[in-house]
Amino acid sequence: MNLKEIYSDNKQPVISFEVFPPKDSDENLLSEINILKQYNPAFISLTCGAGGKENKSFELLKKIKEVNLMPHFTCISSSKQSVEEGLKEIEAMGIENILALRGDIPQDPELICHDFNFANELVSFIKERTNLSIGVAGYPEGHIESPDLKTDIENLKRKVAAGADVIFTQLFFDNNKFYDFIERVRNAGIEIPIAAGIMPVISKKQIERMVSMAKITVPQELQNAMQKYDCLKDFGIDFAAKQCKDLIKNGVQGLHFFTLNKSYSTTKILNNIKE
Ligand code: FAD
Repeated sequence: MNLKEIYSDNKQPVISFEVFPPKDSDENLLSEINILKQYNPAFISLTCGAGGKENKSFELLKKIKEVNLMPHFTCISSSKQSVEEGLKEIEAMGIENILALRGDIPQDPELICHDFNFANELVSFIKERTNLSIGVAGYPEGHIESPDLKTDIENLKRKVAAGADVIFTQLFFDNNKFYDFIERVRNAGIEIPIAAGIMPVISKKQIERMVSMAKITVPQELQNAMQKYDCLKDFGIDFAAKQCKDLIKNGVQGLHFFTLNKSYSTTKILNNIKE
């Protein structure tokens, strides 16, 4: 099923999971995915490095069975030819969806290819050559390189005009930032579905790392917990469940969980939401 079809039924939010290629063996991840699959995700997305096709995510995709997939695909370090080959490989696997990304600018300028400079160029390229349904990234508090949210949303509009079907947001901890983003995006004339990126909080270190890499507000409640505890697993489950319940009450179209390759927190959150 493709993203367009998945998000066309708006009675309930679409549940989806994100995993990443593990540094060690794939076996642990595959067993975590087997647990996650019991929660009937509409699809599972698999991240990739900024090297696009040149990473191990393609081999892993072949090992994930009986679930709809959405590979992430970055373009900043890729030539048109390698992207074309990668897209063919994805379609040959019977995959219908893709998350089209620019990827972070590599520190080594030699690694930038310049065939694609921004994600909207990749979206056009995919649209012209494939039948894949296309997701793109959105940033409720603005992308880190962007001077302001208004400019970032203008650039998001380019990705939508190029053929994106769904927006997947960066994680956020303050739902008001997400609601404000939705309002601004809709006012800018963007009508496609928006899925909220939910990251279960696990530790103080994890949040500090996230906040150093992206524009993410940490609400007072979370700051207080960070001062009290280093391990925030249980707190994180309650926090995310509360966040999701509020999003559902406010009509969120999708909840996309950044599972961190573990089923524990995500499944607890989902059980908690149902209660
Ligand atoms: P773009 O949409 O190209 O935006 C990048 C910056 O350029 C923004 O500041 C934007 O405002 C600006 N911009 C965009 N278009 C234009 C234009 N035409 N002219 C001028 N300025 C423009 N990274 C990975 O490496 N692998 C992954 O698997 C991965 N998965 C992700 C999943 C999600 C849900 C999200 C939210 C992010 C993910 N990322 C991933 C991170 C992402 O690659 C980085 O945030 C990257 O820096 C930007 O990618 P983008 O596709 O949003 O870029």
